[in-house]
Amino acid sequence: MSADVKESLFRRIEERRDELVALTRDLIRIPTVNPPGDVYTDCAEFIGRRLAARGFQLEYVRAEGAPGDSDRYPRTNVIARIEGRRPGACVHFNGHIDVVPAGRGWTVDPFEGVVKDGRVYGRGACDMKGGIAASIIAVEAILEEGIPFAGALEISGTVDEESGGYGGVGHLARLGYFSRPRVDHVIIPEPLNVDRVCIGHRGVWWAEIETKGRVAHGSMPFLGNCAVRHMGAVLHRIETELIPRLASKRTAMPVVPEGARQSTLNVNAIHGGQPEDREGLPSPVVPDSCRMVIDRRYLIEEDPEAVKAEIVGILDDLRRERPGFDYELREVLAFLPTMTDADAPVVRAVEAAIQTVLGRPAVQVVSPGTYDQKHIVRVGHLKDCIAYGPGILDLAHQPDEYVGIDDMVHSAQVMALATLELLGAR
Ligand SMILES: [Zn+2]
Repeated sequence: MSADVKESLFRRIEERRDELVALTRDLIRIPTVNPPGDVYTDCAEFIGRRLAARGFQLEYVRAEGAPGDSDRYPRTNVIARIEGRRPGACVHFNGHIDVVPAGRGWTVDPFEGVVKDGRVYGRGACDMKGGIAASIIAVEAILEEGIPFAGALEISGTVDEESGGYGGVGHLARLGYFSRPRVDHVIIPEPLNVDRVCIGHRGVWWAEIETKGRVAHGSMPFLGNCAVRHMGAVLHRIETELIPRLASKRTAMPVVPEGARQSTLNVNAIHGGQPEDREGLPSPVVPDSCRMVIDRRYLIEEDPEAVKAEIVGILDDLRRERPGFDYELREVLAFLPTMTDADAPVVRAVEAAIQTVLGRPAVQVVSPGTYDQKHIVRVGHLKDCIAYGPGILDLAHQPDEYVGIDDMVHSAQVMALATLELLGAR
């Protein structure tokens, strides 16, 4: 592509800085909080109306029957597509429209889209409405410049990424929206920082362990069998054996931050005995059940079955060694790790564009947590997929989340340039 074309494209995006900010604010002001999955349809239609006015064909797909879907909280996704001058590859920008609840600790209104100090603040500013806005402005700039390209451009706004993506990208991938020949390259503007290309994520396995016991009067615990003490034994083994073992499992995946470049386990929740929300004092009872949810993140070098076997091994050992010990194990959620080739077309195109726009080399990273790439790779069987967006990873889900306006402008320039490269525009 000629230097003139590039320069004109970059200038147009720069000139649309205020519009980019306004679009980000508009998106933040639609409080698509998940759970429960509020006002998804409003947000999908807002994106759809904007793109339809620029010549995109729209489809709205509701994931009926997906977790959380109801007439009150419909899981509404929007897919917009515009064709180039002749057949060719398709570049798709996928952004999740849902945001996590605001939570506490904000110094600004989380759903106002406050602009100050060169930043837009709000829930979802970073993760990832700023990224969605940047991708829309990037694509609009290509169209306005009238740069001829082959193939097609797609933008989707999808739901429920924060809760597994089953009603969003997972649903669409099953319907063929993320497979060839419809789509060839996917960029997900998740917040991984403006100069980094995220090629994948670690695997995740969530499980609930329940230890079993027998009820008795609390003054005579020897007549019962305490499920909480059994869980204490499980925790002890996790603490003294498993966690040190996980820390020694290092990966060649370039995971950021550095602390996540190994296997990890989070004890997500633990509960045993009488409900915490009871009225009045507890009564003296030996608990017959204790439940713990664990969140295990693992590496591409690890076998998913071995990850489960580590936990099962500890539990089976305890069943042999510990009188009265019994358990049940329930899988809550499982996603395999995924990693795009370091020199795949979309990786190379975005890295080259980062070098051009920012004047420094791109950094390849892998995300510590999963995102919708798993559905695109595993269900859609489309491997040419990355995350690239303007937000700062560490700010995601935090109070006073923000996105830098310069970063949004730069990332939009990167997205536009990489798109034209992938579509072979001259
Ligand atoms: Zn996200």
